[in-house]
Amino acid sequence: MEKLSNPQNTIAVIQKYEFAFQKKFGQNFLIDGHVLDKIIAAADITKEDFVLEIGPGIGTMTQYLSEAAGRVLAVEIDKMLIPILHETLAGYENVEILNEDILKVDIAALVEEKNGGKPIKVVANLPYYITTPIIMGLLEQHVPVKSITVMVQKEVAQRMQAQPGSKDYGALSLAVQYYCEPYIAANVPPNCFIPRPKVGSAVIRLTAHREPPVKTEHEKLMFALIRASFNQRRKTLANGLSNAPELTFTKEEITGAIEKLGVPAGVRGETLALEQFAQLANILGGKRT
Ligand code: SAM
Repeated sequence: MEKLSNPQNTIAVIQKYEFAFQKKFGQNFLIDGHVLDKIIAAADITKEDFVLEIGPGIGTMTQYLSEAAGRVLAVEIDKMLIPILHETLAGYENVEILNEDILKVDIAALVEEKNGGKPIKVVANLPYYITTPIIMGLLEQHVPVKSITVMVQKEVAQRMQAQPGSKDYGALSLAVQYYCEPYIAANVPPNCFIPRPKVGSAVIRLTAHREPPVKTEHEKLMFALIRASFNQRRKTLANGLSNAPELTFTKEEITGAIEKLGVPAGVRGETLALEQFAQLANILGGKRT
């Protein structure tokens, strides 16, 4: 099968199968070979790699991944795409296609089954309506990954790599940066897809840390503190943490912990770095939650 990155081939496949794009599945297919080359290069795919592709669509990126990787497992929710994938990927022997909803798949179990539990690389042009649950699922469930290289909405890429004090900084920035080192590899305009998305896109690579950059024995509490701080963005940290239903510290315990942290009493959570959230979790972690 010829390369689908040639837009004429993509159009021919879509016409042949009378494929109707499903908005509810976030279907925007890539039609730009340069962008595909950039994704493969950013993900640094070699024949040693087992790659999980989330949402292969008609198989455009899967063809590139198949050529670069050892093995590719492509998980696609839309059953109408499965016969198309069997045609476009005929001859790409190292590709396996699964017709599943990625949010319902136990990915860690799948990695155990398919790759003996060894770390994989995730590469995807993600459906934008579920970018955050997919990324958070991979991170929080401790799926063994070397890296996650994904096309996402540009604003989401900026949030993932935002630093304290910036308007994009939030719970997603902290979660991503606790587990990974983010790097934006490319900005991608709407005309690289059919149909064209209404938003700009970016390719971001998240490289898994060998060790978390901060140390806490109270990881769950740290993420509860982070969520509480950003749920009530306009409030001071002390008020945000006191009012959070998830936490049951007294106001005195919270103000005491903030004082111990050495930041001003009226500080806002959005100015705290990951290191400071870890310290706060360590201070409060000795007390009851
Ligand atoms: N990889 C293709 C490309 O680059 O041209 C298609 C990318 S398109 C942005 C997103 C793909 O994810 C679509 O094929 C869509 O059907 C699929 N998808 C959407 N929700 C999904 C889910 N929950 N699980 C698996 N695949 C999903």
